[in-house]
Amino acid sequence: MPARVERATIVTVEGRPLRVLEAEPLARYTTFRIGGPADFLVRASDRQTLELALAWGEREGLPVTVIGGGSNLLVCDGGVRGLVIVFRAAGGNQQDELPLGREDGALIASFPATTPLSWIGHWTSERGLAGMEWAAGLPGVLGGAIVNNAGAHGGDVGSVLVDVELYDLRRRVLVRWTREQLAPHYRRTTLKALPQPRDYVVLQARLRLQADDPAKLRALAAANARWRREHQPTGPCAGSVFKNPPGTYAGYLIEQAGLKGFQVGRMRVSEQHANFFLNLGGATAEEALALLEEVRQRVAECFGIVLEPEIEVIGEPRG
Ligand SMILES: Cc1cc2nc3c(=O)[nH]c(=O)nc-3n(C[C@H](O)[C@H](O)[C@H](O)COP(=O)(O)OP(=O)(O)OC[C@H]3O[C@@H](n4cnc5c(N)ncnc54)[C@H](O)[C@@H]3O)c2cc1C
Repeated sequence: MPARVERATIVTVEGRPLRVLEAEPLARYTTFRIGGPADFLVRASDRQTLELALAWGEREGLPVTVIGGGSNLLVCDGGVRGLVIVFRAAGGNQQDELPLGREDGALIASFPATTPLSWIGHWTSERGLAGMEWAAGLPGVLGGAIVNNAGAHGGDVGSVLVDVELYDLRRRVLVRWTREQLAPHYRRTTLKALPQPRDYVVLQARLRLQADDPAKLRALAAANARWRREHQPTGPCAGSVFKNPPGTYAGYLIEQAGLKGFQVGRMRVSEQHANFFLNLGGATAEEALALLEEVRQRVAECFGIVLEPEIEVIGEPRG
C-alpha cells in the first residue's frame, strides 16, 4: 500500500481557518475505491465547516460538488474539477438525544444530513420509533440517501420524509422543501434529476416516525443488518449497479445472461449477487464503465431489456 500523502493548505475564511486538500484522490472517499483527484477537497462533518468551505469555494470562483458517504458514486479517472466537499459525520453519530416533536399522533425527528443512515436505522428502532429499521446496515449518510431516495426491504426515505432544509447556493439562502417538492420515487428525486454540480446542499431532514414496540423494531433492524452481511458481497463496491426494471430484478437478468464472475480488467460481476460489481484492487473507472456497458449490452441482447444505472457517474475521464 503506497504511503498516504496529503497536500493540505490552511486557508483563512471569514477570519477562521479551513483545511483544504489539493489534488486529493477521490478513491479515498468512495466505497468503490475508485476515482481520480478533486482539484480541491474539504472534509466537513458539521455545518460550520460546510459553510466555511462554501464561502471559500465562492471566493475562489470554484464549482462545488457535495458528496456524502460516496457509496453510490463512480468517480471517473480524471477526477472532479473545482471543490468537492465530503459532508459526512466523522465516525458514528455522537448525539445521544435528538429533538422529537409531535404532529397528528406521529413523532417527528430531525437529523443532520451527515448522520450515517445505518445509525439512524438502529437508533430509531432502539427508541421504539418505526419507519427507518430498513436502513440498518446500509452504507452512506442521510444527505445522500435523501437525494437518491435510498431504500430497502420495502421501505425508503421518501415514505417517512416530512421536509428537508437545503442551502441554495445560487441565491445564498436557506430553503425548506417539502416531501412533495422533492417528489421521491424509486431511487430518484427532483434533486437527483438536477445535473452536477448542483445548486443545493441538504443540511437537515425531518422524518415522520410511528411509536411501536422497541423490542420488535430492534429485532427487525438487527435482522435487516444480518441479511446484508449474509447475502451481499464484501469488498469495494457501490451496491446495486443497475435499477430493477419493472416486474423483475437486474441481478436475476445478469445472472440469467451467464455473467456472474464476468470480468473486465480488475472489475468483476460478483458471484454472490450479480448486480454488485467488485473492484478486485486498483481498478479504474474506465474498467468499471466498460464492465457496466458490456453487461448492459448482453442483458439487452438476451432479454430486450435495457438496464438503467442506479450508481451515479461523476467527474471527467482521464485526459
Ligand atoms: C454494499 C452497498 C449496499 C447498498 N445497498 C443499497 C440499498 O439496499 N438501497 C439503496 O437505496 N442504496 C444502496 N446502496 C447505495 C447507497 O448506499 C445509497 O444510495 C446511499 O443512500 C448513498 O448515500 P451516500 O451518503 O453514500 O451518498 P453519495 O454516494 O455520497 O452521494 C449520492 C448523491 O447524493 C449527493 N449528495 C450527498 N450528500 C449530499 C448533501 N448533503 N447535499 C446535497 N447532495 C448530496 C451526491 O452529490 C450524489 O449525487 C448500497 C451501497 C453499497 C456500497
